[in-house]
Amino acid sequence: MTQTAGTLYIVATPIGNLADMTFRAVETLKSVDFIAAEDTRHVKMLMQHYGISNKVIALHQHNEDKASQGIVEKLREGLSIALVSDAGTPLISDPGMPVVRAVHEAKLRVVPIPGACALITALSATGVAITPFTFEGFAPRTASARQTFFKARENNETTWVFYESCHRILACLQDMASVLSCERSIVIARELTKLHETIVKLPLGEMLALVEREETMRKGEFVVIVEGAPKITDVDSELSAEHERVLALLLAECRLKQAVSLAVALTGAKKKALYQKALEINAALHDA
Ligand code: SAM
Repeated sequence: MTQTAGTLYIVATPIGNLADMTFRAVETLKSVDFIAAEDTRHVKMLMQHYGISNKVIALHQHNEDKASQGIVEKLREGLSIALVSDAGTPLISDPGMPVVRAVHEAKLRVVPIPGACALITALSATGVAITPFTFEGFAPRTASARQTFFKARENNETTWVFYESCHRILACLQDMASVLSCERSIVIARELTKLHETIVKLPLGEMLALVEREETMRKGEFVVIVEGAPKITDVDSELSAEHERVLALLLAECRLKQAVSLAVALTGAKKKALYQKALEINAALHDA
């Protein structure tokens, strides 16, 4: 690494409450040679609040590929630069990835200045199982893409988290309810750190009804957390020998999906357990 080269600082800023700015973030924004910001007007409001005067350049999704090389050159000249986004931690559903990659490829220093991040803030206060969890960024924008997205995650046993906008939150929950069980546990964390902060945990069906009923639940910024599907660990303890016998007979006569549906109707056993057992029986038949 070149000793005289400057450093790129990745500086987290508040997600709503201006007081959620760290001392280190303020000091860094004051001391760097310039600030690269997603929206120059936005960061200037923050700078004004903290008495920071510094040069600001725009670095957003439309110019970041091109601007990355310029940033690398400035660092090589020995200048230090702070990267900020409009809210929270840069690069988390925000611009910055091409710059950070280019700086690493140039073997120059990248230093994170940690702070607020909406998904971490939400996860820390909801009491859902966190480790492990999956962060999905923003949910897809169209109904069909959203339904595919939910379908693909229906059986995920770990918690997943995504961002959603006020324009789509209702449609998003409607699509979710058309795919997932209405008993699935959902958290909506809205307007975190702000005046109307709301954190609600409910079964999906009740959450949908709440968001349909209350206009305020469709306003602001949203983190949505979906608890993992119940584990199907001990299928054998859920199914009796008779359940298995009926399923095996049906599998000999019909396709897997139909055999499972009929077995559910005939035995009253859980669909997931029967499905899992059907996969096992079929796999054993293939191996034989
Ligand atoms: N970089 C940010 C972070 O660290 O969380 C996220 C930026 S992303 C473009 C903006 C999205 O994050 C919003 O649409 C919303 O889904 C979520 N978000 C940001 N601030 C939030 C807040 N105060 N409360 C709830 N969600 C928030």
